[in-house]
Formats: sequence, structure tokens, C-alpha cells
Amino acid sequence: MKRIFSLRKVVFILGIALMVSCSKGDESIPITIFSVSDDIALGAEMDAQIMSTPGEYPVLDSATHVAAYNYLYAVRNTILASGKVKYATRFGWRFRIIKDDNVVNAFCVPGGNIYVYTGLIKLLDNSAQFAGVIAHEMAHADQRHTSEQLTLIYGETFLLNLILGSNPSQLTGILADWAQGLGNLAYSRSNEYEADAYAVKYLYPTKYDAASLGDFFTKLESQSNVPVFLSTHPSPSDRLAKINETFQSLGGVHGQLFVDEYLQFKSSLP
Ligand SMILES: [Zn+2]
Repeated sequence: MKRIFSLRKVVFILGIALMVSCSKGDESIPITIFSVSDDIALGAEMDAQIMSTPGEYPVLDSATHVAAYNYLYAVRNTILASGKVKYATRFGWRFRIIKDDNVVNAFCVPGGNIYVYTGLIKLLDNSAQFAGVIAHEMAHADQRHTSEQLTLIYGETFLLNLILGSNPSQLTGILADWAQGLGNLAYSRSNEYEADAYAVKYLYPTKYDAASLGDFFTKLESQSNVPVFLSTHPSPSDRLAKINETFQSLGGVHGQLFVDEYLQFKSSLP
């Protein structure tokens, strides 16, 4: 009798497990059962890894660099208030500045945390360009490109094990490759077109000039050394045309650039 009960119990548990995995269906992206909650959990693991390796990721302390972070949060909050970000309230949207003037890059992890290098901040000319790159990274997280790309390469079982904290050294390696766009760890071209289009849509209702995303890419491509950003984000050749197409389809009204405010932000950095 006892054995039969155990068997029933196993079947019951399996049934519950199946129901749980099915209930993830409405939130899942096409290639994966990785859920929005999994995105948030994996992003939290990656963020903890970043914060525990300051040699690799010299994150500026938000309590010390209050003015710089207040500016960053203001840009983020303006984008979140656009009403166009799907997971505006569900994701944590934690933003961090990494002090390395030689790295022209920004990246996001699943669940909406964004990391911006001082090298990228110092290269740009105004708040609208900066808001453009921030909106582009937010779009990759919000459209779940980040977890889609990671699951494509590593498989969801592997990533779910990372969330459970079973192999911290593997997490370190993946994160380093992800931040630098090594191997296959870059977004697809269709991800890039989509992130550009969403960035313009996020920015259009705000005070920032949504067309400035195009200026950002023009600026990057004019650099003599290829910025890391362009290796983590394969640049489709007709990107500028498509950005402008989206901008015109929304009405083509230019917002503002905020040059002085951006100079102040740059001067608030160490
Ligand atoms: Zn991108």
C-alpha cells in the first residue's frame, strides 16, 4: 500500500510540475520556456557576479557619485515613463556605471539591469544620444533578446542551473564573454533592428530627440578603433535608414538634445 501511495504522489508531483511549466507558456519567447521570472533571476545572479568582481568591473559607487547616478536615473525614469516599455514595472532596471574610459560599451543582462562604461559616456555629445543608447539596451532586455540569445547558445537547462547557483565559475566566464561579445555572444541582426525600432518608440513620447539614436551609431562608426559596442551589436548597414523610417512613421517631430546638461553629467564623472 505504501508503495502505491508513493507512486501516486510521484504522479501528482509530476502533474503539478507539468502545470507549472505550461503556465509559463503565455510569457515565454518562441525558442524557450525560459520565463520572465527566470530572466529576472538570471540577471540578479549576473549582477551579483559583477558587483563581486570589482577588478573586472570597477562599478562606480552610487552613494559616492550621487550627481552622476541621479542624472542616469533621470534618463532611465523618463524612458520608463514613456508608457512603451513592456516590463517597466516588473523588471528592476538597476543601472550601473563602470569606470573604464577605454571601453566604449554598454550592455544589459536579462531582467533589465544596464551597465554603461565611462568610455561610452565620454564619447557622446548630448543627452539625446545617450538616452538613445540607453533605450536601445533597455529594448534588448524588454524584448527579451538577452535571454533568447543566451538560451540559444547555452540551452535553458544550463542557464537554469546557473540561477540555482550550481556553478559560479561558469557564470563568470559567460558574463565576461557576454560583456565583450566574444564567440557567438552577440545579438542577431533582427534583434538589432528590433531594439533600434523600440528605442525610437520609447524615446519618441519623451523630451529627448528620438532621431539621435542614429547620431549615436554614426558617432560610433566614425571611431578609428572599432568600439566594443559594435562587436556586441552587429551593425546592419541600413540601420540609419530604418531608424529614420521608424522616426518618420511616428510623426517625425524632433525633441531636444540637452547639450549643457550632458556636459555637466560628463564632468561629474571621475
Ligand atoms: Zn543592440
